[in-house]
Parts: sequence; structure tokens; C-alpha cells
Amino acid sequence: MATPRARARYKGRETEQILCGIDDMIQLKSNDELNVLRRANMVVAEVHALLREMARPGITTADLDRVASEHLRRRGARSAFLGYQGFPNVLCTSMNEKVVHGIPSSSDVLEEGDICSVDFGAIVDGYVGDAAQTLSVGRISDSARRLLEVTHGALWAAIEQCRPRKRLRDVSGAVEDYVVPHGFGVVRDFVGHGIGRKMHEEPQVPNYRVGGRAGALRLEPGLVIAIEPMVNEGTHETKVLDDGWTVVTGDGKLSAHFEHSVAVTAKGPWVLSDPDAIDPR
Ligand code: MG
Repeated sequence: MATPRARARYKGRETEQILCGIDDMIQLKSNDELNVLRRANMVVAEVHALLREMARPGITTADLDRVASEHLRRRGARSAFLGYQGFPNVLCTSMNEKVVHGIPSSSDVLEEGDICSVDFGAIVDGYVGDAAQTLSVGRISDSARRLLEVTHGALWAAIEQCRPRKRLRDVSGAVEDYVVPHGFGVVRDFVGHGIGRKMHEEPQVPNYRVGGRAGALRLEPGLVIAIEPMVNEGTHETKVLDDGWTVVTGDGKLSAHFEHSVAVTAKGPWVLSDPDAIDPR
């Protein structure tokens, strides 16, 4: 789940308020905490594997939500999303022009050629795992495939930056640099976030280069962030539907979303929500 970008007005101008001068509120995690976060993220990864298998014409987004919910129960884990600021489900399902935070429904039926972003969070022993992917339903158009590939590539370009002595702007700028040459719009209204005992911790992790103190934040071992580029086929602008949750593209064109929870370690990034990732410590 993404977090709305914090904004402040200073002398009549909008300013980024990513750190708000509160570097010391960033909670670095111990090795033991990283191990628990890995376990939470493995439950998330298992659900994402199930959703990939299910994505075919005729399945509803409510079906996807039910399978995710059943898997939480099997693993004795709790949902990070259900009840979060009143969110009604365990899964966010955002089809086609929906960007993020879509609500599952039995009337949203997947059809051949659709894309559907699914975002899922689980709590294990008090720590939150969070990851998202955009599913393809059957054969999708070449332009949709390119959007998915670019969004996924941008996520991994950012992950590669998650090393000690790099700065937050290296991570956020990597997404922007990867996406812009393809002519797609990088969503600015919602951003990634620190993650740990709470789903949304400091710092915010935008998908565009940030300046100032926020961008200059040095990455340190034990920092855990959820990086989640949301990339639109057209304009970067978004709007929120009347349900108060569903975010859609400003122009009705497609949007894709990939997210991993990533720990910075002394030896490089540990992609906690990637089941194939090796613990580099
Ligand atoms: Mg998230």
C-alpha cells in the first residue's frame, strides 16, 4: 500500500515534506528484526504466487481477495490492509486505469487483455511485509506489456541503489531516470515508505528525484523501505474516486505498479519480499 505524499506549504509555495527534519525518527532494524520482516514478506510472496496462478478471464477481484485472506489464515498471519484507515479488504486490486488502492469486488471480472495491480500486506509477529505486482490476464497489448516491463525495470533499478552511503535521491531518482525516456508518467501523489512495526514509517520514498535534506538522507544498514513505482501510460496525474480509496489515472489510460520491501545491509540490498533473494549479510 502506498502512502499519500506529505505536502506542506511554506511562504505560499508547496514544498516537499518527506523528512520534516526528523531523521532521528527513522527506525533502523536489528538483524533479528530483519529476520522477522523476511518471514512476513515470505507470506506476502506466497500470496503473490497464488494470485499469478489465478489471473485468468472470468476470475473476479473478490476471488483474488478471498484466496489472499485464506492464505493469511493458513499461515497464522494478520492482514496489514484490512481495517487500515477503514480499508475493507486484505488485498488492493486496481484494474487497468486504476493506479492503486482499488477495492476488490465480485462485479470486477478479469477479461482477456486486462492488467490488474494487486497490492498485499501481512503482519507476522508484529512486523509488516508489503509487496505489489501487476498481473496480466491472458494476452495483453504490446503497449501494456511495455508499461509493465518498464515499471518492473524501474523498481529493480531503484533496488540496486539500496546500499550504504547511497542517498535517498539515488533510489528515487533511479525510478524517474528509468521511466522518463519511455515517455510514461511517474505518479507523484503516492509514494513508497519505510516499513517495520508499522506499514508506513519514515522516510517517504518518492519515485522521482527529491532534493534538499530529504534527498540527501544517507542509506544505512538496517534501513527497510518499500519501493513502489506506480507508472502511467499517459499523464502522471491521478484522482481519487468517490469511494475515497480507488486512485485512477487522470486521463483514463493504463497504470502499472510493482513493489518490494527492501533492507539495506552492509553487503547490499536484501529484497525481503523476493523469495529468490539471498540474505547478503
Ligand atoms: Mg507499500
